[in-house]
Amino acid sequence: MLLKTDGVVIREKGTGESDRFVTLLTRDYGVLHAFARGAKSLKSEKQSGTQLFAYADFTVSRGKDAYVVTEARPREVFYKLREDVEHLALAQYFCELTGLLAPEETPAEEYLRLLLNALYLLTTGKRPQPFLKAVMELRLVSISGYMPDLVGCAKCGAYTDDEMYFDRREGCLYCSGCADHGEPLTMGVLAAMRHICFSEPEKVFSFTLSDDGLRRLANLTQGYMHAHLNHTFKTLQFYNQIKT
Ligand SMILES: [Zn+2]
Repeated sequence: MLLKTDGVVIREKGTGESDRFVTLLTRDYGVLHAFARGAKSLKSEKQSGTQLFAYADFTVSRGKDAYVVTEARPREVFYKLREDVEHLALAQYFCELTGLLAPEETPAEEYLRLLLNALYLLTTGKRPQPFLKAVMELRLVSISGYMPDLVGCAKCGAYTDDEMYFDRREGCLYCSGCADHGEPLTMGVLAAMRHICFSEPEKVFSFTLSDDGLRRLANLTQGYMHAHLNHTFKTLQFYNQIKT
């Protein structure tokens, strides 16, 4: 059986002399693990379409025990991500996070669209790194089933206050009158969180926030993600290491 779909290479490992084992995030079949025979060879037609971050049209055949990439026609290889170590590290983290949360062998269009947009915006420098990191963390965690309840105060329902408080474990908000714990949120940071959770997929990267607000937001989304996913992200540890 042949599967034809487009997707991004989110993990790539050399195996044997010239083969690659790749993990793909595809539009129609979600996460797929597959062999690409001979793909490491510079002469291979699959060489550029099976390297990390490549966005390509894939033909994948389902073998007895494994998937095999039979064709990989690159549309975009995001080569510039490799020229900046921070961009490279953040892009690898986005791939690890998406690979963990996207479904396997099930359509995953929104995940693919998010990842492609994030890689594009990172390559072009059109959005700052904390912005992209916050959107990827909070949106991915939300669409995969862990959306925080940001509608209003968990006790009285208030939608807005001078300052509200976020409980990252419970994933809920309290107004200043009801809060006895939680991390303080400015209204700007809360508006950004609501936007990331509730906006249409095509608008999720369209908001603005001050640099200081973005740093707070990215810390919050990272904390929330850690509180709900039992996973150590080596790529995130590396990114945070080189940022400090
Ligand atoms: Zn309240």
